[in-house]
Amino acid sequence: MGKKQWQGLTDDEKKRYSRQIILDNFGQSGQEKLKNAVVFVAGAGGLASSALPYLAASGIGTIRVCDYDAVELSNLNRQVVHSDRNIGINKARSAKKRLRQVNPTIIIKTFECKIDETTVRRIVGNSNIIVDCTDNLSTRLVLNAYAVQKKIPFVFGSVWGLKGYLSFFHVPETPCLECVFQKAPHEGEFPVLGTTPGVIGTFEALEVIKYFTGIGMNCKNKMLIFDGALLLWKTVHIARNPECPICSKLR
Ligand SMILES: [Zn+2]
Repeated sequence: MGKKQWQGLTDDEKKRYSRQIILDNFGQSGQEKLKNAVVFVAGAGGLASSALPYLAASGIGTIRVCDYDAVELSNLNRQVVHSDRNIGINKARSAKKRLRQVNPTIIIKTFECKIDETTVRRIVGNSNIIVDCTDNLSTRLVLNAYAVQKKIPFVFGSVWGLKGYLSFFHVPETPCLECVFQKAPHEGEFPVLGTTPGVIGTFEALEVIKYFTGIGMNCKNKMLIFDGALLLWKTVHIARNPECPICSKLR
């Protein structure tokens, strides 16, 4: 993974992560895989507010995070990685301040620009996985196309109100995002309760940790749908679209 030399664990790291190292099939080798991983988190809003602290706390060695916007008062009902005193500050930078406190031993790189076809390559860089914590389909489709092209796994998370959605895309083993969504069901300002991205962002971090360590199974070929109002979970099967403009030519 990456061009850097493989990094082993320090004594402090063995202690910091001791409660997860003792998980079945995790061990010090699992922890080393997290330490040597580079994770790109797209967006530093609601989904990232839970995904980022859990990724940082778990010992992901390098986190790259990008957001163009500044923290606003109306973000704070759900974007708990930010605080009142960071209103007006770029969200990626604000999140980094918090993550420094969560885990000062990891590398955090911030990018303060829009994610589009012209910037995606530079921002994603040498990341081994892309975590979608954005809030709009057009950015997601840019990330999806790049992930398919580079064969990087793409963790999809989305929320609306009290409903949340999650899937793990990695063509050709799974469909891509564009096989499932071509048009946004909702755009612009939408209702959201903070606990919904809290749940889904946490699950996105879990998908990342499972991917690197090999514990459990990723959410492949299915969409997890969470209904917070009724406290119901369901999964629906999703399949590749043989006419998908993004992934249909890949085997
Ligand atoms: Zn596709």
